[in-house]
Amino acid sequence: MSAQSAKPKFAIIGAGPVGLSAARALKQKGIEYEQFESGTAVGGNWRDGVYQSAHIISSRKTTEFPDYPMPSDYPDFPSANQMLAYLNDYAKHYDLLTNITFNKTVELVSPLSNEFFELRFSDGTTSIHEGVVVCNGHHRHRRFPQFEGQFTGELIHSKDYKDPDQIRGKRVLVIGGGNSSCDITAEAARVGASAHMSLRRGYWFMPKTFYGVPTSELLTTKLPVWMQRIYFTMLLRVVVGDYRSYGLMKPDHKIFEHHPTINTEVLHYLKHGRIVPHPDVKRLDGRRVEFVDGMSEDFDVIVCGTGFYVSFPFLAPGLIETDNAVVKVRWGMVAPNHKHLYIYGWGQVRYGFGPLLTPGSDILADLILLQRKLRHPLGQVLEKLKQPFPRTHLLDPMATLRQIESVRGMLWIIPLVDKYLMKNAGSLRSSTDIG
Ligand SMILES: Cc1cc2nc3c(=O)[nH]c(=O)nc-3n(C[C@H](O)[C@H](O)[C@H](O)COP(=O)(O)OP(=O)(O)OC[C@H]3O[C@@H](n4cnc5c(N)ncnc54)[C@H](O)[C@@H]3O)c2cc1C
Repeated sequence: MSAQSAKPKFAIIGAGPVGLSAARALKQKGIEYEQFESGTAVGGNWRDGVYQSAHIISSRKTTEFPDYPMPSDYPDFPSANQMLAYLNDYAKHYDLLTNITFNKTVELVSPLSNEFFELRFSDGTTSIHEGVVVCNGHHRHRRFPQFEGQFTGELIHSKDYKDPDQIRGKRVLVIGGGNSSCDITAEAARVGASAHMSLRRGYWFMPKTFYGVPTSELLTTKLPVWMQRIYFTMLLRVVVGDYRSYGLMKPDHKIFEHHPTINTEVLHYLKHGRIVPHPDVKRLDGRRVEFVDGMSEDFDVIVCGTGFYVSFPFLAPGLIETDNAVVKVRWGMVAPNHKHLYIYGWGQVRYGFGPLLTPGSDILADLILLQRKLRHPLGQVLEKLKQPFPRTHLLDPMATLRQIESVRGMLWIIPLVDKYLMKNAGSLRSSTDIG
């Protein structure tokens, strides 16, 4: 689309699950768009971000898009390959591939004075768009820990762990107790010379199933979080017992205050002595790692399962603010001051992606249609309506679904507030005054 052309299309950045779901909704609502993806194909993390042996941590039922269920012969916990096949089928089913340009990395998104946006790509080309939906994923920008000293073995991030051959026969230390860390530590227990894990604090490790039902499916309850806490704490006391009997620290926080770790194997291998737990690392010295309890051990490989930064390196300064992992957007996606800028799917859901993305993407498309009729940026109208920024990046699945419903129930009032703001001109800046 050239700068002179009358009607620029929307741009969607990323063709992982979130970008595909957004594309489906825009297409169904007749919103013209182009989609740009750095990689060579769709699938996001499920194509390039997980290890060969990965299986989902949520479950088939809590991860499939309600509008496009996974094949019924898929297991409760499909593999990364099955997930990728499913996402490819989804893209084909909704005929999304024709609008995607692959090997196209967005380097800069800048607002223009006419309320459109210019995208600049790593190949030097540019394009103009009516608006931008950012779906670049939150498992991309690696976070590494800082330690005193130097390690002379191999030190990698969990995102760079792909294949058991990387750790086969080696002495492996995994740092962190999140979902990827636990999968990799369990793999090291199977194929490594030794498997150790270093944990800074106590975690709520939850088995992948209770009563034979995937744990994420038990989180579909309508119970408020405080009641879920009581329920799961009691269940864990019976099924897992005291974490200290595994050599782990007692959790120092309430369950669900952090993203929970759902993994059965680590608990199993800890009890079999195939995984050795340690507290935080104190210092590195050649191959030797010293822990804060004074113990030390030699390793060949350290895998840092220390998470990611939520980041949008291509957004021009001033477009969006982030506070740690929390993105300052209203209704979970609407930029505060610019028309037609949406940051979508950045939250960490205690669940799978599909059930939230299908209604979330439908709302996103409705907001785009609504914004076209408004004088003011939707974010500013929402500010007037006292719709706050999110307080956390952790999403309770049922609360999020309720929030999507309540957003839908409030759509009628938006044009009225927009008109009110027009009558009281001057009370708000127009989006062209900003950035
Ligand atoms: C080990 C592991 C296990 C997981 N298990 C689960 C699970 O069980 N259930 C679950 O729901 N989720 C799980 N996840 C989370 C997973 O990230 C999501 O399932 C899902 O992939 C997120 O989709 P997304 O589209 O937001 O991001 P991604 O899948 O990361 O896709 C983002 C896409 O944007 C593209 N992109 C980024 N920047 C640019 C740019 N500048 N220009 C163009 N394109 C760009 C990327 O190439 C990528 O294709 C897991 C993640 C990991 C790492």
